[in-house]
Amino acid sequence: MAEERRFDVAIVGGGIAGLVAANRLAQLGLRAAVLEQGGEERYLCNSRYTGGSFHVCLRDILSDESTLRQAIVESTCGFVSDALAGVVAREGRRVVRWLQDEGARFMRVSGAEYHNFVLAPPGRSRPGLDWEGRAGDVLLRTLEANLVKRGGAVVRNTRGRSLIIEEHECRGVAAQQGEHEISYRTRAVVIADGGFQGNAALVRRYICEHPERLKQRSAGTGRGDGLQMAIAAGARAVGLDRFYGHVLSRDAMTNDKLWPYPYLDSLATAGIVVGPAGERFVDEGRGGVYIANAIAKLADPFSAVVIFDHAIWEGPGRGGLIPVNPHLPAVGGTMLHADDLAALARGLGMEPGQLVNTVRSYNEAIATGALSTLAPARRTSRYPACPIAVAPFYAAPACAGITATMGGIAINEHAQALREDGSAITGLYVAGGAAGGLEGGPEIGYVGGLVKCGVTGLVAAEHIAQNRGSAAVPSTC
Ligand SMILES: Cc1cc2nc3c(=O)[nH]c(=O)nc-3n(C[C@H](O)[C@H](O)[C@H](O)COP(=O)(O)OP(=O)(O)OC[C@H]3O[C@@H](n4cnc5c(N)ncnc54)[C@H](O)[C@@H]3O)c2cc1C
Repeated sequence: MAEERRFDVAIVGGGIAGLVAANRLAQLGLRAAVLEQGGEERYLCNSRYTGGSFHVCLRDILSDESTLRQAIVESTCGFVSDALAGVVAREGRRVVRWLQDEGARFMRVSGAEYHNFVLAPPGRSRPGLDWEGRAGDVLLRTLEANLVKRGGAVVRNTRGRSLIIEEHECRGVAAQQGEHEISYRTRAVVIADGGFQGNAALVRRYICEHPERLKQRSAGTGRGDGLQMAIAAGARAVGLDRFYGHVLSRDAMTNDKLWPYPYLDSLATAGIVVGPAGERFVDEGRGGVYIANAIAKLADPFSAVVIFDHAIWEGPGRGGLIPVNPHLPAVGGTMLHADDLAALARGLGMEPGQLVNTVRSYNEAIATGALSTLAPARRTSRYPACPIAVAPFYAAPACAGITATMGGIAINEHAQALREDGSAITGLYVAGGAAGGLEGGPEIGYVGGLVKCGVTGLVAAEHIAQNRGSAAVPSTC
């Protein structure tokens, strides 16, 4: 028989979303068990790796509510409901203030709006992974220490496996701790396991045929346990086919200096991205997240190549905190170059005619203002299209880096999990990367992973405290 433990709330996952919820619950007088599958002191998760930038759709998180709400609705083409867009736009600013009160330190790292509130010291300092003593690592340790001071704990080596549903309500979660099964009997459960990017079978089912040909630009710890538990309990999933990620050098598959930074988005959005025969297959003007999703869905996601010229390399290539120029070649990323496009195509093993034609039509379309007639059309509202005209010409073999799934369990504005009919499952909440309906849509609009964690963590805790706090469940160790 499984051992039984009683708490007010069980939280599945000890990333930023889970620890925000746990601390807020503790402030409100409720006792939460944070179940964390990782066993190390500094267990890995996306929050540990994060760059640390709190923003809403790359806007300053302190912008006024209506600006942020409109940015969410526009970037996701209305995929995010008014209610969810409203809560993120309204509560984002409270998240950074609340985190500051918890001891988080923020800094501005560039002139870009989305760099106004970055966890200090920032998580983006050099090519490759660099998380120890930085952004998310510092925040997780701060939040865990606060939780311990408030009488709580992160219970490591403990994997949530299934929800305890009785009389249509969620009343706990069954977990595995080594050989032991433990039932956490609670008033509410918060799923905060970070999404399903680390589960190849689920990525194959929902996103693309070849998950093994995506670069895991994440900790790989989000295995979709929460999604599967919630679906089994009758929850609805939403937007599962989209992910947040970037265009990476294909060498990132084997070279750890090439992920999570530098990424190739600046080259891909200024130049063109072609498939195996030298043909364009995506509107590069929609941005790096969109391009990464398109590459993932190619019949062979290893067949994409970014094509650009010397002017792009010396211009947009030098942009960003860890610019692709000079870092890509400096850390071993493949970059072919040639004085003419035919030679570049031959270097790639392509028949030259198609690539030469693709670039010619693209350059002509820029010159004549006919980019919208190309197939696929090329937008210029976010990223100007630059001609590919100045030798030497370059080719960077690319792949899609998946950072986090955008879709997940459907929630309402209180972060309650929803059924197919739109009703809330009493006692079941979702926070952070596990939650769906907060980003995505036809343009694959990126709202922001960290703001999702903070907002859903806070509102879930507060709704639990308001609505479930009086239920008579004793709280013992
Ligand atoms: C390289 C990188 C850079 C990023 N930069 C930014 C940025 O600058 N700005 C931004 O907004 N976002 C950024 N993100 C995204 C952001 O970091 C994530 O969206 C956020 O950290 C997700 O937090 P989470 O708590 O939902 O999930 P996680 O941090 O992944 O935590 C989930 C936890 O749940 C645990 N878990 C999983 N399954 C179970 C289970 N069954 N039982 C128990 N525990 C379980 C995992 O081990 C993990 O510890 C970045 C991500 C990466 C990888």
